Amino acid sequence: MLAQEKHHSAYNAWETALAQLDAVAARMGLDPGIHQILSHCKRQLIVCFPVKMDDGQIKVFTGYRVQHNMARGPAKGGLRFHPDVNLDEVKALAFWMTMKCAVVGIPYGGAKGGVICNPKQLSRNELERLTRRFAFEISILIGPERDIPAPDVYTNPQVMGWIMDTYSMSKGYSVPGVVTGKPMSIGGSEGRSEATGRGCVFVIQEAAAVVGMELKGAEVVVQGFGNAGSVAAYLLHDLGARIRAVSDSRGAIVAEDEAGLDPRKLLSYKKEHESVLGFVGTRAIRNEELLCLPCDVLIPAALENQITEEIAHGVRARIVAEAANGPTTREADKILYDKGILVLPDILANAGGVTVSYFEWVQDLQSFFWNEGQINEKLRAIMTRAFNSVHGIHQEWQTDMRTAAYILAIQRVAEATKIRGIFP
Ligand code: NAD
Repeated sequence: MLAQEKHHSAYNAWETALAQLDAVAARMGLDPGIHQILSHCKRQLIVCFPVKMDDGQIKVFTGYRVQHNMARGPAKGGLRFHPDVNLDEVKALAFWMTMKCAVVGIPYGGAKGGVICNPKQLSRNELERLTRRFAFEISILIGPERDIPAPDVYTNPQVMGWIMDTYSMSKGYSVPGVVTGKPMSIGGSEGRSEATGRGCVFVIQEAAAVVGMELKGAEVVVQGFGNAGSVAAYLLHDLGARIRAVSDSRGAIVAEDEAGLDPRKLLSYKKEHESVLGFVGTRAIRNEELLCLPCDVLIPAALENQITEEIAHGVRARIVAEAANGPTTREADKILYDKGILVLPDILANAGGVTVSYFEWVQDLQSFFWNEGQINEKLRAIMTRAFNSVHGIHQEWQTDMRTAAYILAIQRVAEATKIRGIFP
């Protein structure tokens, strides 16, 4: 197919994204012109910029901002500060943002950015100077009407605050809507830090109803007890689910008694001990064992490529809710589908984060802020609507939920592109 013919290089994230696009395009008989548009990123900016280090030396860093598609609105996507950042990864992440925003029907296109650096080796002052200079370099692309960055791996609300300030300085007035994921004091939103986990739980509630599963008493396993995973765990626990096992980068634990773990107590324990390991009433297990425990809901909330082909054969969950981005390999995906497991794909299951980012931007633009109850209610409405749309396509097209989510997203981008027409 079109995109694959053009990209013969070794496996990488952009190749994966194109392969996904090609497969769905073939399934839905996508217009070749639209297929071509989606196989390319609209804009790719590479910046090399100097930063003065604390010891007085100058170091040059490389950063990227990629806008994949803006047919449905301004571009939206996070900024990653990591040694492994590269252009193809940023392009793939931008593509997935286009898809994610379209699935939940928020009026954004997709973007992503990053800087090749190791923030753990930078002082706070160096990190601030790097962030500000990078923000200035990409300010030819970003802006509240054009492209709105957010936090991603190793960037946080403070980094967003510096970007907001840098952009505002160049304008001469405060522009809070240029980034989301900001601290509350400068235009951040209530509910943003819990949004991904909460959105994931809303989608799980809908899925449970569809498969006739009662969440009260349901057994839940969470891989990755971080921001997304821990919030999903305690909100499901609030609904009466039993949290059977969880893990973090240091290891996995399983509850020894039927009632399961108390996620809020575990969260305090983790803050103190920097790991879930050793929590009272649990024993350690291997990561693969965790993923293959019999349970009702399995939530991969750590890294990519965790549910491999080999592990997929052993998965004994009824629902897999992908809080993480890309946790299931393409081979594993097919196995889970053939086993009759309902997989809630990442572009649906973790879209709560970008949805509340959208609310933050809307609040910044109108300079009027909602309370947490209003945010959560609006989030539920959007996640439920998205689930129902994807599930409808899943049934109508007799396909897996991931393909259904891509079909929905691509239909929406295609429609916007066709209605706007091709300039000139
Ligand atoms: P985080 O850093 O807060 O949490 C990640 C957790 O995973 C940590 O507890 C870490 O110890 C654990 N972990 C790392 N390696 C592991 C391994 N091999 N096995 C088990 N656990 C491991 O990050 P987060 O923000 O919760 O993000 C988690 C995933 O969710 C990522 O894939 C991210 O892209 C995705 N996501 C997050 C958001 C968000 O708003 N936070 C939004 C969309 C998607």
